[in-house]
Amino acid sequence: MPDLIEITDVRHAYKTPAGPLPVLDGLTLSVPEGAFAAVVGPSGCGKSTLTRLVAGLMRPDAGEVRLHGSPVTSPRSTVGMAFQNPVLLEWRSILDNVILPLEIVAPRMPRRDRVARAMELLDLVGLAGFENKRPSELSGGMRQRASLCRAIVHRPEVLILDEPFGALDNFTREDLWQTMRDLRRQEPFTAILITHDLRESVFLGDQVVVLSGRPARTQYVLDVDLPADREIDILYQPKAGEMLHLL
Ligand code: ADP
Ligand code: MG
Repeated sequence: MPDLIEITDVRHAYKTPAGPLPVLDGLTLSVPEGAFAAVVGPSGCGKSTLTRLVAGLMRPDAGEVRLHGSPVTSPRSTVGMAFQNPVLLEWRSILDNVILPLEIVAPRMPRRDRVARAMELLDLVGLAGFENKRPSELSGGMRQRASLCRAIVHRPEVLILDEPFGALDNFTREDLWQTMRDLRRQEPFTAILITHDLRESVFLGDQVVVLSGRPARTQYVLDVDLPADREIDILYQPKAGEMLHLL
């Protein structure tokens, strides 16, 4: 059985007016069904490029991207995505934003069932009671929670998270890590999480894939083996002496 996501020796260069810009040069990554791969690497090393390749929005110059053993050649609705800045439709309620993918992939699903599915997720992420609010009435962390619900409402096989917590303050971010773990217990998705926060990568990933170099390649893959019920006890608490340094 192939792994659900298999990326093998992918190479890619963007065409620019100044000539080709090689971005990826030997990206290899394999994610078993149900697993969570955290991809870390410096800014500009090609992490978002990787997400576009997996989502089928772009094809690599060389190498292969396969889902369930089949090459990815076009965008598919079995992939859900969430980004650093959630794009929620301001004229729709939170509930109607979350429902959106169901309107597209399951047009015949009765509204009552769509609402039930969306509410199940909103409840899980702590947004029950906010479903009728507009996006602008919610905090950044709450909007990101809503965008996570929207990314998985149609039960995609693959979830791509491109630095979804990058714009949040530390406390909100760590709250969302816990929410992500709660969601995983309930929803059987396979995920690629892009991040440049190492703590986030080991807290959420089953494996951490490290990209580096220009153009970037897979440097190494670490297997993470933290117990699933592990509490967040890794909050950074500066000591008094360190605080003095900061002042
Ligand atoms: P990351 O997400 O790791 O920060 P990206 O995948 O967004 O990196 O970008 C990798 C490199 O490719 C960067 O140097 C970026 O400027 C360049 N790049 C990204 N998208 C394009 C594009 N559409 N055309 C040309 N260059 C691009
Ligand atoms: Mg990026």
